[in-house]
Amino acid sequence: MRKLASHVEGRWVEAEGRLETLVNPATEESLVEAGADGVDRAAALAFARTTGGPALRALTYAQRGELIRSVCDAIQSHRDELIGLAIANGGNTRGDAKFDIDGATFTLSAYADLGKSLGDTRVRVDGDGVQLGRTSRFHGEHVWVPRHGVAIHVNAFNFPAWGLAEKAAVALLAGMPVVTKPATSSALVAHRIVEILVEKQVLPAGALSLLMGGAGDLLQHVGPQDVVAFTGSGATGELIRGLAPVIRHSVRVNVEADSLNAAILGPDVEEGAETYEFYLKDVLRDMTQKAGQKCTAIRRILVPAPLADRVRDALVDRLATIVVGNPAQEGVRMGPVATAQQHKDVREGIDALARDGRLVFGQTAKPVGSPDGKGYFVGPVLIETEPGADAPTVHSREVFGPVATIVPYDGTAANAAALVARGEGGLVSSVYSEDVAFTSEVVLGLAPFHGRVFLGSAKIAEQSPGPGTVLPTLVHGGPGRAGGGEELGGLRGLAFYQQRVALEGSRPVIERITGAKSQG
Ligand code: NAP
Repeated sequence: MRKLASHVEGRWVEAEGRLETLVNPATEESLVEAGADGVDRAAALAFARTTGGPALRALTYAQRGELIRSVCDAIQSHRDELIGLAIANGGNTRGDAKFDIDGATFTLSAYADLGKSLGDTRVRVDGDGVQLGRTSRFHGEHVWVPRHGVAIHVNAFNFPAWGLAEKAAVALLAGMPVVTKPATSSALVAHRIVEILVEKQVLPAGALSLLMGGAGDLLQHVGPQDVVAFTGSGATGELIRGLAPVIRHSVRVNVEADSLNAAILGPDVEEGAETYEFYLKDVLRDMTQKAGQKCTAIRRILVPAPLADRVRDALVDRLATIVVGNPAQEGVRMGPVATAQQHKDVREGIDALARDGRLVFGQTAKPVGSPDGKGYFVGPVLIETEPGADAPTVHSREVFGPVATIVPYDGTAANAAALVARGEGGLVSSVYSEDVAFTSEVVLGLAPFHGRVFLGSAKIAEQSPGPGTVLPTLVHGGPGRAGGGEELGGLRGLAFYQQRVALEGSRPVIERITGAKSQG
């Protein structure tokens, strides 16, 4: 069977010893093997620091933007091939695969544009300078410069293309080399992306390295100029944060973890109204897209108690139309979950959630186009709780699959916000209402607990991709359970990879250093 090699120290390195088999989750057919035993992680990091770092820092922002544009174009030119791999290795429908791969190129393109707009400079000025003395000669200025370490990116299984690209785009524009480690189970897409970039010689040596297989001792070799950006479960995030070398060297760690995203329907919204339909459409999309394996997917459906039965019936009717099966098959709307472990976790999670309420929809139809008894299929599942029920699991356990729970609330903004806050911090929650006073109160109630709040209204329905889509221009991350991280957000994302330093001295000298240009 073909083995996926790592690309480190500027060359392909085959693993020795133990290998993991990557499978098609719809058929359980073996695809390739991957591993990283025998790959010298310390040397991989050192090469990135000493070769990739200087090459990137020698470039201006505009030049780094051009590199990112070339990465984007290279991926785009292999779009169909990558979609095929995502269908085979990720259980993705064609739509799911496009969401991942087009999300990658969209984000790369946005950061390429930002590079161009920053222009021919290597130093970014932060805000306005300040007069420090009697005269304007004694001056202070804050500037951003790239860190001299390596950016280690550890990604989750659900977005092998977008996860790689969204992190790499920001780090490369900031001037830091990247060592990226995709989740092993779905790594075929990420591996092919790096292979394409190597074939086309898009990036300078050491700017982007790929580690296949488990992380091993990778994070034991971090140094004081390095950063770690992690996406995955809260438990792994906690482990990474607590590693001795991370603590010893004050290594910056960004964690994107679990989230119990909520969608609140306002009490003003009537059945059949445009906003009502918009709400149902977004809930349905989030439950089924990528088989619910989206960190931003709606998990808690907050509905005013008098409307809860009708929302439930409408969702049940729509969920019943979802054809589950092998995504390579025409007409399939939802594929399997990604791995045998995911399958087990999701099924256990459904049982736990159902103990908080009642299972009102669970599809039992045989998956279309898969061999009998094969594939990690879980049909969409809807659970409902009683008004006022405590439902501790619903508010504390993220079930990472096509599963959501209806939580009736009393129709007040205060009650809705208090229920959502029980999730202890999330990536995104949303409110669907045309009542500005209600919306404002809910938004301010949700804001401290989220990285993003989505304001759903008929006015934006036609243009909106819904709360589940992460945009490069807005921050992604959230406090508490969501990991406390923050990524993207246009130029805001660069801060993680750079050092902000205050310069204090003679104004003409400082202006010479900064080029007297403010890039905000
Ligand atoms: P996971 O088990 O924590 O794995 C995530 C990544 O961490 C994988 O690349 C994994 O490698 C690696 N890893 C595992 N143990 C490690 C260790 N000891 N040291 C360093 N790296 C290690 O998470 P998962 O279950 O695959 O992912 C699903 C979770 O990700 C869900 O909870 C979801 O909410 C979250 N997620 C969050 C976001 C977000 O943006 N906030 C996005 C997507 C997913 P291997 O695959 O080789 O084990």
